Amino acid sequence: MEQTLSLIKPDAVERNLIGKIVTVFEENNLTIKEIKKIHVTLEFAQKFYEMHSERPFFKDLCSYISSGPLVAIVLEGDNAIQKNRDLMGATNPSEAQEGTIRKMFAISIDKNSVHGSDSSESSKREIDLFFKQ
Ligand code: GDP
Repeated sequence: MEQTLSLIKPDAVERNLIGKIVTVFEENNLTIKEIKKIHVTLEFAQKFYEMHSERPFFKDLCSYISSGPLVAIVLEGDNAIQKNRDLMGATNPSEAQEGTIRKMFAISIDKNSVHGSDSSESSKREIDLFFKQ
C-alpha cells in the first residue's frame, strides 16, 4: 500500500466539484485516508511549491493556490502515486486524455483542478506539510 497527496484546487472547489473528483478516486480503488478543506496562506503556498521558485509562473501559481479554499487528501492504494497521476491527466488540460480529471474539469494550465505528488519523496514531504505540522 502506498500513500500520495492529492489537492482539489480552488477552481474545482469553487465550482462544487469535490464530490465528482473524490468519486473518481474511490471508483479506482484509491481510499481516502485523510481529508480536509483548508485555505492556505501565500507563505504556505510558496513553501509547498518551492521547487518551482525559479519558474516564471511561480508567483501566479502561489497566489492562485492561496486564493480560496482547497481540499487536501491523503489517498492510499496499490501504486497510489502513479495511479493518481494517471487519473489526473496532463498538466495542461488541452493535452489531457479523455476520461482524466483534468480533461473533464480543468479550465487552463493554471486552473487545472488537481495536484498529485510525483514521487515517493514528494508524497512524504507533501503529506507532512499538510497533515503533520
Ligand atoms: P503537475 O504535477 O502536473 O501539477 O505539474 P508541475 O508540478 O510541473 O507544476 C505545478 C503546477 O504549476 C501545475 O499544476 C500548473 O498549474 C503550474 N504550471 C506548470 N507548468 C506551467 C507552465 O508552463 N505555465 C503555467 N502558467 N503554469 C504551469
